[in-house]
Amino acid sequence: MGLNYIDGRWVAAQSGATFERRNPADRSDVIGTFPDSGHDDVEIAVSALIKAAPAWAATAPERRAEILEAAAANLESNAAALVDELVREEGKTRAEATMEVGRTPMNLRFYAAEAVRTTGTTYPSPGEGLVFTVREPVGVVGAITPWNFPLNIPSRKIGPALAAGNVLLLKPSELTPLMGQRLVEALLAGGLPPGVIALVQGSGKAGAAVVADSRVDAITFTGSTQTGRAIHAAVGPERRSQLEMGGKNPVVVLEGADLDKAASLIVKGAFGLSGQACTGTSRVVAVDAIHDDLLSRVVVLAQKLVVGAGGDEGVTMGALASAGQYRKFLDYVQVGLDDGAELICGGTPHDDNADGFFVTPTVFSGGTPEMRIVTEEVFGPLLVFLRTENFDSAVDLANNTEYGLSSSVVTNDIATALAFAARTKTGLVKINQPTTGMSMNAPFGGFKASSTQTNKEQAGESMMGFYQCEKTIYLSG
Ligand code: NAD
Repeated sequence: MGLNYIDGRWVAAQSGATFERRNPADRSDVIGTFPDSGHDDVEIAVSALIKAAPAWAATAPERRAEILEAAAANLESNAAALVDELVREEGKTRAEATMEVGRTPMNLRFYAAEAVRTTGTTYPSPGEGLVFTVREPVGVVGAITPWNFPLNIPSRKIGPALAAGNVLLLKPSELTPLMGQRLVEALLAGGLPPGVIALVQGSGKAGAAVVADSRVDAITFTGSTQTGRAIHAAVGPERRSQLEMGGKNPVVVLEGADLDKAASLIVKGAFGLSGQACTGTSRVVAVDAIHDDLLSRVVVLAQKLVVGAGGDEGVTMGALASAGQYRKFLDYVQVGLDDGAELICGGTPHDDNADGFFVTPTVFSGGTPEMRIVTEEVFGPLLVFLRTENFDSAVDLANNTEYGLSSSVVTNDIATALAFAARTKTGLVKINQPTTGMSMNAPFGGFKASSTQTNKEQAGESMMGFYQCEKTIYLSG
């Protein structure tokens, strides 16, 4: 049975309540039961973190780095088991799980290095004494995370928070509690002092309790825009929050583009992780001259995907993560049809008799700006084509969304690529690459309703800034 980790001990929820997580590819396979935590658990966890904070803040950065390195090594030594568990808990494919399990220790190492790089600045100020800045930990960090990268995303928050000397409460998604537990176990195995981290399992109710506790100095959140907005409102102006939210990411394809390349990167972006990536491709904006040709190439590749349990040999598209995701996907297919889009392939459960949340890769054409499948984040394997005339109208359509996370253009013309990069309103711009995929040491985040735009994740020193307070000190003798 899974437990919370509070005040250096593995404990059940105060109320004794639990929830169960099952394998979304085989619903008879129980992953475990976990504490269904609430306000009381958060209250105790935060009090304990506050007690542990001064000693951790006073710990040498070299020691913090050593612990993050050791946790990374622990994750690596358990990689095979973690891949199996991640496939079972989330439903992603073995290849996708292997990539995530490989990336997570790299994140911890990246921030281990940042721990020892923290600097201050001196400001020559004749008449004012010696003026200089120091950076201190913010204090208690609350990390609230989603299920689609349940190791990788928390590690991008835990790494810099601990490196900077903060104490941290992790509230993982209720769909992937085991991965949250595994991360905390790795940190403890790496030598993290008990009390410096707390794990509080549960639903949005537990997340909301973390946000509501004014002793939590900073909230770092990744999840839907809807939840992000609620958190932003609850945090208020006195505390800091960093929010990574949804996307509606377009690929723009112009005349003269290599259509095989375009089709392959579109299919990768749209159906990788069963369409459940924040940077996943959900819209294709294609100019008239190549629209039909591109559409048929995309459909051919989409239909070659092998849907099934992520651990099975040869499977290239795993299950959706939950009953909610499954229902939402099928509802959006109906919405697309009702709004007048043309269903070209997919749109159905993969196998009515399967004991898992399997659906078929789905492509619509005839998308128009007012359709809900064009404007709303489906977060499933549903791709919609929009036909347009030229570069200008393609960019306008691509930008016609409340989101601004990632966009891609497929072109062999460098001037067009640069014009697209200049005009697209997304934080990530890909040229001849899928909207998904990222470099681990480059700033990651979006514009508009996709992200708070300061302190991007993965951005080294700038990310560390979110977890540090800067003081300006004036010294005279
Ligand atoms: P979600 O918003 O439903 O949940 C995310 C986390 O917030 C979970 O831990 C949940 O329990 C918690 N939560 C829910 N309600 C809360 C509340 N009122 N207060 C505090 N916490 C609350 O999102 P999800 O379904 O887990 O994840 C999918 C979403 O995440 C998609 O929209 C996707 O685009 C987004 N996402 C964004 C990024 C990014 O980096 N921009 C990365 C991955 C996923």
